[in-house]
Amino acid sequence: MINKKKTLLNEIKEILKSKGIKPSYQRIMVYNYIKNHINHPSVDTIFKAISGSIPTLSKTTIYNILNLFAKKGIVDTLTIDKNEVRYDFIKKAHAHFMCKICGEIYDIHLKSDVCLKDFVEGHKVEDTHVDFKGVCKECL
Ligand SMILES: [Zn+2]
Ligand SMILES: [Zn+2]
Repeated sequence: MINKKKTLLNEIKEILKSKGIKPSYQRIMVYNYIKNHINHPSVDTIFKAISGSIPTLSKTTIYNILNLFAKKGIVDTLTIDKNEVRYDFIKKAHAHFMCKICGEIYDIHLKSDVCLKDFVEGHKVEDTHVDFKGVCKECL
């Protein structure tokens, strides 16, 4: 178990290095958290989850790490929640649905192929954001 964890941390180390990021322990832990939590966490959520095991960690540090990850194309910043920025590990383009009642943000698979193209009407797409809001199936 311990060895498995070590391997995982080493893997993350290599990924960060390959993106030109110095793999500090805090960066590795934030990367590990966001990769494994697909619920679009905010800085607060990440802080509450991992600060217990990293006493020196501050919210500002997490914010700075996520900013760096966003610049390097590792995470996406979501603005669907007007109250706080939420973060998403970058994967295939997908839409988001935010529930007005519980605040949960769900991934929605895009079926319209216009959203999945690299080019639309001759323009090169670098970012795709499709946001839906309403009441989620759990709250209905
Ligand atoms: Zn809900
Ligand atoms: Zn998402």
